[in-house]
Amino acid sequence: MSGLSGPEASLFRPMTDPFGRTIRYLRVSVTDRCDLRCFYCMSEDMTFLPKADLLTLEELDRLCSAFIAKGVRKVRLTGGEPLVRRNVMSLVRSLSRHLGTGALDELTLTTNGSQLARFAGELRDCGVRRINVSLDTLDPAKFRAITRWGDIDKVLAGIEAARAAGLAVKINAVALKNLNEEEIPELMRWAHGKGMALTLIEVMPMGDIGEGRIDQYVPLSLIRARLAHEFTLTDLDDDTGGPARYAGVTETGGKLGFITPMTHNFCESCNRVRITCTGTLHTCLGQEDASDLRKPLRASPDNTLLGASVSRHMSVTGG
Ligand code: SAM
Repeated sequence: MSGLSGPEASLFRPMTDPFGRTIRYLRVSVTDRCDLRCFYCMSEDMTFLPKADLLTLEELDRLCSAFIAKGVRKVRLTGGEPLVRRNVMSLVRSLSRHLGTGALDELTLTTNGSQLARFAGELRDCGVRRINVSLDTLDPAKFRAITRWGDIDKVLAGIEAARAAGLAVKINAVALKNLNEEEIPELMRWAHGKGMALTLIEVMPMGDIGEGRIDQYVPLSLIRARLAHEFTLTDLDDDTGGPARYAGVTETGGKLGFITPMTHNFCESCNRVRITCTGTLHTCLGQEDASDLRKPLRASPDNTLLGASVSRHMSVTGG
């Protein structure tokens, strides 16, 4: 897969985006497909994009490498479900060369965990050290109801395989009214008992979920207030570059994160941009901005057009 060197590399210098942020964190969707159908994320009978619209693994590598050459230090692979993309490990392995050169600090992924038992060892081999696993409940029947057909045992086995391989695992859980809100203390005790941080997420009105959105939303301020009856939460100053704010929990000794897009935005701490699996760049989750990077990527086999296009959309600062 292609790397960047020589004159090409000089096209890519550290960048700030139109909001004046120095971009260090790239989140890349490698597929729109998923083996689960979480009811707040996808409809049961999803229509996925034609394969030709998706970036190839080589194109994804070129794109990520271009951003890394421009100063991105952390790449997170996501989806859809990243581990259902065929040969995705060849992309992970290829991107890991940037860890080897020191150009990249961290290569990580967000997964539903269903395929993790197969891939945990190889991820670790490729230099991945931390992963996020999405898990909203420990109750097998609720898990099936949320994901429509998921098998929680596979996810739990995946988490154990990841831990056994030496990966640090963080659990992400979407807080869902009348579904898992009562279970959050138990989920937290379970995660913290295994040395895993837990991050709660407010459900957002996004994704193609088919039928109208039933009332799923519960503010995390409410969940936090409830937890405070039982636990001592102390705000931490951790700046992960991600959207979560963290608290330490005295009773469990673990970390609890809050992602609150609905009640409190996180623009001031955000240093990341997103790319979809079709090569569309979004510099802000909360805005409608979008730039097509697939066109310059496909217009020329080298990275000259791509670099110029990225620079046009991000105002470039000194080298
Ligand atoms: N398949 C991977 C996974 O399950 O983590 C990666 C993609 S998934 C879209 C990433 C995260 O977004 C998951 O934690 C999922 O629960 C969360 N998510 C999906 N739809 C959401 C929504 N409408 N509101 C809040 N979070 C959502």
